[in-house]
Amino acid sequence: MKKVISILLIVAVSHALYAGVGDKAAKPSKENKTITDTVPFAIDEEEIMDYNDSLTSFPAYELYCSWDTANIHSKKFDISSLKDSVKEIVLADKYNCGYVPPFIGNVTSGFGPRRKIFHYGIDLDLETGDAVGAAFDGKVRIAKKSKSYGNVIVIRHSNGIETYYAHLSKINVEVGQEVYAGENIGLGGNTGRSRGSHLHFELRYLGQPINPTDVISFSEHKLISDTLALSKKTFDYMTAAKKIASAKGGKGSKIHVVKKGDTLSAIARKYGTSTKVLCQKNKLKTTSKLRLGQQIKL
Ligand SMILES: [Zn+2]
Repeated sequence: MKKVISILLIVAVSHALYAGVGDKAAKPSKENKTITDTVPFAIDEEEIMDYNDSLTSFPAYELYCSWDTANIHSKKFDISSLKDSVKEIVLADKYNCGYVPPFIGNVTSGFGPRRKIFHYGIDLDLETGDAVGAAFDGKVRIAKKSKSYGNVIVIRHSNGIETYYAHLSKINVEVGQEVYAGENIGLGGNTGRSRGSHLHFELRYLGQPINPTDVISFSEHKLISDTLALSKKTFDYMTAAKKIASAKGGKGSKIHVVKKGDTLSAIARKYGTSTKVLCQKNKLKTTSKLRLGQQIKL
């Protein structure tokens, strides 16, 4: 009891002292006290708002949960998660000016199987130095040189679609730069794995390629529709793409040899497959330990 009283006394004395200091510094009105109390919270809110603002300034951040400026391809989403649903993607509405052709040229190669590879874009004929523009409003996520794509630009759009512009001779934009549909982003060329000047144009949604002709008429140079109904059907081409990939690997499917630090989920991510599929193909459990040098069928 004695202890409690002494604590109460200390609290009372220190409060009186604190109040005294406050009296000298400011008027001891109730109003003033309220303002003093809310100051730290006001600063916190501001900080939170800054943080949120920086996230919302990346297009479709809620879909990707990342803004990766190093890797050309975003992590692929699992198509089976679409089930039988149809997701409507708005390509043009009253808030944006929609589509502007990146370049008006003849289509020299379409989306689909090509020789022993699957061509995930569309090729438009151009001369080196021809101006290439952004197809939609968006923000530049990638602007760099790649072995296969050559000088490549990837723009993310607010509806979650990303457009790719490859084999450029010159890049005129920087990562993080906002661009509007039709704005010049670079010059056409023949860089990377390319035979002759052309623009390789791709359209992807959460890393998964979409046939650009599902969205754009390259003969009429306009959108087929203001919206895209994204469903499992959009990705039907994958059966053909997988066939080509497995044929390329020779007998059966490709193999990954386990290296130090490898995990099933990391291997699945690397090859755009799932842990479940790897487990089935290799008669493994998700908890199975991998051995160095172990061959994993992909
Ligand atoms: Zn191409």
